[in-house]
Amino acid sequence: MFKITLLPGDGIGTEVVNSAVKVLKLIGERFNTEFEFNTQLIGGSSYDVNGTPLTDEVLGECYNSDVVFLGAVGGPKWEDLPHNLKPEAALLKLRKALGLYANLRPAKVYTPMLSYSSLKDEVLKGTDVMIVRELTGGIYFGQPRGYDEEKGFNTMIYSKEEVERIARTAFELARLRNKKVTSVDKANVLEVSQFWRKVVIEVHKNYPDIQLNHMYVDNAAMQIVRDPKQFDVLVTSNLFGDILSDIAAMITGSLGMLPSASLGSKYALYEPVHGSAPDIAGKNMANPIAAISSVSMMLKYSFQMDKAAEVLETAIESVLEKGYRTKDISKDEDNLVSTDEMTNKIIEEFEKIFAKEALNVFTL
Ligand code: NAD
Repeated sequence: MFKITLLPGDGIGTEVVNSAVKVLKLIGERFNTEFEFNTQLIGGSSYDVNGTPLTDEVLGECYNSDVVFLGAVGGPKWEDLPHNLKPEAALLKLRKALGLYANLRPAKVYTPMLSYSSLKDEVLKGTDVMIVRELTGGIYFGQPRGYDEEKGFNTMIYSKEEVERIARTAFELARLRNKKVTSVDKANVLEVSQFWRKVVIEVHKNYPDIQLNHMYVDNAAMQIVRDPKQFDVLVTSNLFGDILSDIAAMITGSLGMLPSASLGSKYALYEPVHGSAPDIAGKNMANPIAAISSVSMMLKYSFQMDKAAEVLETAIESVLEKGYRTKDISKDEDNLVSTDEMTNKIIEEFEKIFAKEALNVFTL
């Protein structure tokens, strides 16, 4: 049995988490796995009830579960609150409390979505990159930092342990994929990058089955746009990862399609990349694919249910292939569907693919 703490949050967060749960319930039935759901408040909806966007009790529930699944937080209603009470503060607190140092952002192109990208089909087709961004160290946290009338300054610093653990995460992930890691740094200019590279090479000695190469960050930015297919797992620091993951995401399509995972040594958090989308909240218009793809990541990386993840990904691709689209990704000729309809279509396809695969097993 797997215990999942659900944190739907605000706006479309609740709608897309509903979709994710529907899908998970079906997968539980089909793969004989029990998922226990425990729904808790986070963000503005927590502030309204508890006067804080994340209570210690909810954190305690997260500590007691196998994984946390989050929708999104925020909205205009809470915009004027002091910084520490804003819904978004809950996210930072949660990530920190769970020690989530590795942020995984896949940039995978579904073939039916090729024409939605700014890149040419032949450049993009077959792209499947996993960006592994160090999330709790580097220049965003380094001391000293500050500014005065004359200067502004930050410190990019990494300890050996911080680089070792993110490198291990990248190599382990590559083992589940195409066994190739590209470590991105700026070792031609920055000492912190020279150190990063040295440690990554050291960790790599334990992963002789994985191919490792190094790339400067400016070149990596160009290569993601020029030839994204060359990458399998790309591992990098907090600052570089922040920028590269957005570049990689945008070549593949819409915000409503992007899943993510944040992993620590003990805990894991899965969430769509998008926010609470107040402009479409409550209208049954949100694209649930980012959340449902986050389920697929959860199945693969936390529950080792690779087959279920694969069937789910195929179901999403198949629904897109048939032309079903939520508004954010629709063109004139498409079949426009609501959040619920898109979820049900994915469930129908999942059932079909599952039944076909089961038949294959019986007829072998
Ligand atoms: P947003 O991601 O919520 O929305 C940006 C645009 O994309 C909007 O037009 C929205 O309608 C559209 N969009 C986003 N997700 C979609 C989906 N699944 N289906 C269809 N369309 C989708 O970003 P924003 O408008 O800058 O922020 C809104 C609120 O969300 C703010 O309070 C912000 O702080 C918060 N936010 C939260 C998270 C999070 O919880 N992880 C992330 C980003 C922003």
